Amino acid sequence: MPVILPRIEITLSQIQHNARILSERYGKQGISLMGVSKATLGDPEIAKAMIQGGVKFIADSRIENIKRMKNAGISTRFVLLRTALSQAESVIKHVDISLNTELATVRELSYYARMYNTVHQIIIMIELGDLREGVLPGDLFPFIQEVLTLPKIKIIGIGCNLACFGGIKPDNYNMGKLSHLADAIEQRFQITLEIVSGGNSANYEWAESTQALGRINNLRLGESILLGCETIQRKAIPGLHTSAFTLITEVIESKIKPSVPFGEMGQDAFGTIPTFQDRGLHHRVIIALGRQDILVSGLISQNNLEILGSSSDHIILDSHNHDCKIGSEVKFDLDYGGLLSAMTSPFIAKQVIGDRAAMRRDRHRVF
Ligand SMILES: *Cc1c(COP(=O)(O)O)cnc(C)c1O
Repeated sequence: MPVILPRIEITLSQIQHNARILSERYGKQGISLMGVSKATLGDPEIAKAMIQGGVKFIADSRIENIKRMKNAGISTRFVLLRTALSQAESVIKHVDISLNTELATVRELSYYARMYNTVHQIIIMIELGDLREGVLPGDLFPFIQEVLTLPKIKIIGIGCNLACFGGIKPDNYNMGKLSHLADAIEQRFQITLEIVSGGNSANYEWAESTQALGRINNLRLGESILLGCETIQRKAIPGLHTSAFTLITEVIESKIKPSVPFGEMGQDAFGTIPTFQDRGLHHRVIIALGRQDILVSGLISQNNLEILGSSSDHIILDSHNHDCKIGSEVKFDLDYGGLLSAMTSPFIAKQVIGDRAAMRRDRHRVF
């Protein structure tokens, strides 16, 4: 097989393992999992690995990704994490369940659900302090009252999302509030909420330590399945793989150079005036990867290379005297931002390494 660089190697067995360990761990508490596929652009084989590991739903923020997985023959309950009014028809056609916070959008969903004669299921997201999406608790009853008048819309649950925008941690107080609201809604409106979705990969420590799980019976997990960590402190979760994704690119220049630029200084390529630490003459390496491909701060070197800076197409590193021949491969682990950008770059080949000896060459690469 020809070597393609740069590429991201994806070890499916490790993703499946992570999904299985987390499904078992949360399953003991009566918590089902949605495997969140958005960081992988809905890669069908990754979704399959998550499902084989035991997740009960696949959730994604983009309809395009859900369509990609469905077209590849994946069959599960698909959840849309972000719902836009202009996409209502497409949501009804392609998605089983969507998360919602706006009446105008739910009305539009109802309109198309009637047109296509299907019942669309929604989970209402509630604002519990992180200040991303959510209906304010004080507005919740009138909101639900109105939704219940809309034909072909079924409220199957409520949820909340924390630790994304405001950095607010899930704790017994906000999780208790979600549980309490679930009880109150059921009592007030005589409906059953099948799903009370307490959050994402940031809920790990809370779930580990709490004595008060309450009504929480679902979590939506992306990062902890893909990268094996929780997301409050980015600590590895015991028993999980943290390197299922490896980014590999090649050395294109390797020279001894000064560490401080010479000549008169103005702005760099991105409009800032850079500063430099003088380390004398040292061994500098350039790799074939840049800001057009990757969130550079999301790269973690496996070769003890130190990132000095980057431009659109180049990353400059201090090799720390690691021997870097021209054309040799350098490898990086990725954090979430690194993963998201690498999976989205059309210039980085996605190479899936499967147990079933099913090596797949990426078909989405444009060049
Ligand atoms: C992205 C997303 C998730 C998954 O978050 P992770 O931190 O990757 O587990 C869960 N819920 C919603 C609404 C999301 O947008």
